[in-house]
Amino acid sequence: MKQKLKKTYRKLYRHFGPQGWWPARTPFEVMVGAILTQNTSWQNVERAIANLKRARVLSWKRMLRLNDRALARLIRPAGYYNIKTRRLKNFLHFLQERYSGDLRRMKEGGTSRLRQELLGINGIGPETADSILLYALHKPIFVIDAYTRRWMVRHGLAAPQLLYEDLQKIFMEGLPADTALFNEYHALIVRLGKEYCRKTKEKCAICPLRDEKL
Ligand code: SF4
Repeated sequence: MKQKLKKTYRKLYRHFGPQGWWPARTPFEVMVGAILTQNTSWQNVERAIANLKRARVLSWKRMLRLNDRALARLIRPAGYYNIKTRRLKNFLHFLQERYSGDLRRMKEGGTSRLRQELLGINGIGPETADSILLYALHKPIFVIDAYTRRWMVRHGLAAPQLLYEDLQKIFMEGLPADTALFNEYHALIVRLGKEYCRKTKEKCAICPLRDEKL
């Protein structure tokens, strides 16, 4: 498995090149993006974030001061805006109460404790928590998403019924705990899933991983 994971990474990197993730200016923007991207495309998230920037509220203090209706209006392009407003507010209250909004202090915490804290916030699931840990706080944790699961199942690397943590364990045990590697690998899998390993009409014949498929 270790060799397979490394070989796949090399092939994807050679094919696609560096992905430059996460596309955001600050760790806080990454955190907001990680919550907004649930069940929507990145394009829609960008529009919502542009609204927050235009309104000059992309900071934890200012967002927390906004009333729910105003925040929902700004993040509307990201869809499910009422639910996401509640999730953002839950997260902002956590940031304020636990870390006084100090992301540097938050970053000093151990990965597993931080993960438990994030998972304790209503509306933050494993993928969102791990995206925040990896891309905003630079913790060495592998993010699993639907693209990862699809590719692994199609290549016989994992059974379809495996849980998020089981899939994550495969990467965490098969690769060195390297933040830069985890960052790039996940981004490359997303690219693979969007361009080749699609939900329907996958393009195996021209996919960079075609020789790896059983
Ligand atoms: S070869 Fe086919 S199944 Fe494998 S990753 Fe590429 S598109 Fe997906």
